[in-house]
Amino acid sequence: MPCPTAVGATAFWLTEPAGGVYSGASGAEQEHTAMEEITIRTRRQTDMIDITDAVQNAVGSAGIQRGVCTVFVPHTTAGVTINENADPAVVRDILMEIEKIVPLRDGYAHAEGNSAAHIKSSLFGCSTSVIVEQGRLQLGTWQSLFFCEFDGPRTRKVWVQVTRI
Ligand code: ZN
Repeated sequence: MPCPTAVGATAFWLTEPAGGVYSGASGAEQEHTAMEEITIRTRRQTDMIDITDAVQNAVGSAGIQRGVCTVFVPHTTAGVTINENADPAVVRDILMEIEKIVPLRDGYAHAEGNSAAHIKSSLFGCSTSVIVEQGRLQLGTWQSLFFCEFDGPRTRKVWVQVTRI
C-alpha cells in the first residue's frame, strides 16, 4: 500500500549570522553552513514518519562532505527521534507506550486541550544531530530519523542545517 504521507523539500538559503552571505544553492559547496526546510503532512493525531531520505537529500544539496547535520523541529507539539526502521512494530510499540505514559486526557490545565502533545514533544525533544561523512548521514544499520507528530494530522516543518567541519 502506498504511503499517503507527502514529504517534500524546499531549499532556502539564509544569511549567515556572522556576516557571511549564502549565495544560493549553486554556491552552497563554497559555504560553511547550509539550511533547508522539509515540509511534512502527517496522517494521524499521533504519528512517526521516517524522514531519513528527505534529510539525506538536504545533506546532498548542501554539498558538504564532512560535518554535522542538525535536525530541528520548530513546533511545540511534535518532536524528532532516531530509532529502528526495519520492523514497523517498533514504532507502533513506542507510540502505544507513550500514550500510556502521557494520556490524552488527564485533567490538564492548558486551555487549548493539547497538553499531552506538548509533554510528549518535550520528552522526545525538538532536535537531534547526526554525523556526516562523505556526504552521507552516519546512521546505524537499523536506525532512521523519525518526525514525531503528537497533535496531528497537519502540515509540519523540519529544518535541516549542515555545518562543515
Ligand atoms: Zn497547546
